[in-house]
Amino acid sequence: MNLNRRDFFKTGGYALGAIGLSQMLTFKAHALDSAPDVDVYAFHCGVLKTKTQYLLKNTRIGVPFDVPVPFFLIRHGSSWIAFDTGNNAAVAIDPEKYWGKAICDAYTPVMKPHEAFKVQIKKLGLKPADLKAVIMSHGHLDHCGALEDLSGTGVPVYIQEDELSEIKKQIATGKKTAYIPEDFKMINTVNIQPKNGLLDIFGDSTVVLFPTPGHTVGHQSIFVRTSDGQSLILAQDACYTLENLTASIPPGLAYDIPASMVNIYHFRTMSIMGAHLVPPHDPDFWKGKPLAPQKFII
Ligand SMILES: [Zn+2]
Repeated sequence: MNLNRRDFFKTGGYALGAIGLSQMLTFKAHALDSAPDVDVYAFHCGVLKTKTQYLLKNTRIGVPFDVPVPFFLIRHGSSWIAFDTGNNAAVAIDPEKYWGKAICDAYTPVMKPHEAFKVQIKKLGLKPADLKAVIMSHGHLDHCGALEDLSGTGVPVYIQEDELSEIKKQIATGKKTAYIPEDFKMINTVNIQPKNGLLDIFGDSTVVLFPTPGHTVGHQSIFVRTSDGQSLILAQDACYTLENLTASIPPGLAYDIPASMVNIYHFRTMSIMGAHLVPPHDPDFWKGKPLAPQKFII
């Protein structure tokens, strides 16, 4: 299902989106009786050593904050999809060479070679070509880093159209910003599928990507309903930490702060309705949470 994103915003689409998603949380439950098993697996691609204000705007300025870099695999029956890919494998070898000094000074990566995307997904017996699809939340370096692993595989990679335009604009500058040109050097050999709006990946309301612009111009998040009854919002950088959610604190880094706040209110609404938000870069949230090869449970 595709919904034009501009119309979506014009018509107060966030609220409608929340209502639509709440319907997924409730009315579609009966459809799951015959649906394939759906599980989520979480991975951490190392840690970024940063400062609190870069995640929580104007909050505890200068206080060190070591945040995990998560990506996910979702199993739907015998099909697997990935949501984000973490950092490029080169970040485990020479981060300053790959990301540049300025980025590494603000977000110092601590990553081992075995934490790279294609190495970690072997824990579930998979290689990149086995995936049915990959969804990229946005083009930043700690999410889109292993795009090259999809080169030549034909695996569709879903990115919002606006994000793809921004990526192309950014890489044309040749500069290392939160978008690293080297992450996209193989982009012409990757089966990029630009999307504009919502996409119900399997057509059964179990895995739905939806636009959450604000942190970047074309950010997207995923709603997952697992077969053991969890309703998960894999927000990625639309909501860095639980504190952003509960205290309504804007992200430290955002393309559009008001839009970021609308996402946060949207997520709070969904949380009230029974969904659980998974905040990507929240070290306290992840304490004790099972990582792959164990199934993720909230
Ligand atoms: Zn991030």
